[in-house]
Amino acid sequence: MSNVPDVTLNNDVSMPQLGFGVFLVPDAETEPAVVAAVEAGYRAIDTARIYENEEGTGRAIKSCGVPREELFVTTKLWNADQGHDSTLRACEASLGRLGLDYLDLYLIHWPMPTRDRYLDTWRAFERLLAEGRVRAIGVSNFQPAQLTRLMDASDVVPAVNQIELHPYLQQAELRDFHAEHGIVTEAWAPLGQGKGLLDDPALAAIAAKHGKTPAQVAIRWQLQLGNVVIPKSVTPARIVENIAVTDFELDGDDLAAIAALESGHRYGPHPDTFDYVG
Ligand code: NAD
Repeated sequence: MSNVPDVTLNNDVSMPQLGFGVFLVPDAETEPAVVAAVEAGYRAIDTARIYENEEGTGRAIKSCGVPREELFVTTKLWNADQGHDSTLRACEASLGRLGLDYLDLYLIHWPMPTRDRYLDTWRAFERLLAEGRVRAIGVSNFQPAQLTRLMDASDVVPAVNQIELHPYLQQAELRDFHAEHGIVTEAWAPLGQGKGLLDDPALAAIAAKHGKTPAQVAIRWQLQLGNVVIPKSVTPARIVENIAVTDFELDGDDLAAIAALESGHRYGPHPDTFDYVG
């Protein structure tokens, strides 16, 4: 078994600090990938309506041999479904595809400030929480101004903000904001989506020093920052590699070298302008 620690969300729900992401995994490949992840020790799974693999994720949840209550399942409300009533319907549809009667965490996938429906959407999230359809509610890709507006309009502080975060985009301002308000920072693209980050010489040097891989260093760094992290892979050996990160510790020199990699580079879209409804 892995030794992945839990974090405690602001409503006392426990969430594994390291989970398994399934972005871009075709539905038919999702069941074997998630089952391999559960066998490797992952207990948290991160999917989304727009990934079109909630059904494959649901099949894996049924076939993996681990009781539902020992898993932590996150899905996300897609942009086209923002709004109060459409959110309630979208949640039921996601639950149906997943074959579940509750979610552990439901996230607003993008704030879509140009369309400005996230306050109505959040009111529906509050209702889903009160009715027990979801154990925790949060957001994704929200900026400080949007979080502030949401919190001013609601009594429920988001449990999580899931954001792009890796050594090239360290999100210091958002992490400070989250810490101040009791919001857990969850990192997407922790490996830079396999687009070059892991070739960085600084990560390679730290990896060589610890007898680990650059991917393991990038994931370990997130754990030491206190973030939740959800690396993705469909390759069984990498699925195992990416969770084998609890038997070493980055030291002050390592952390300083990674801090120096900040470049503001985004692999994904900018949350202030992204308004794709697909
Ligand atoms: P990631 O940073 O996890 O990169 C995944 C890619 O890294 C793989 O496809 C592979 O090419 C490579 N890789 C994986 N393990 C490796 C290893 N050990 N060694 C070398 N290369 C390796 O990118 P991601 O999938 O975009 O992000 C992780 C998860 O975050 C997603 O699966 C999804 O669940 C979530 N996500 C959320 C949002 C959002 O808007 N909320 C956006 C993107 C992703």
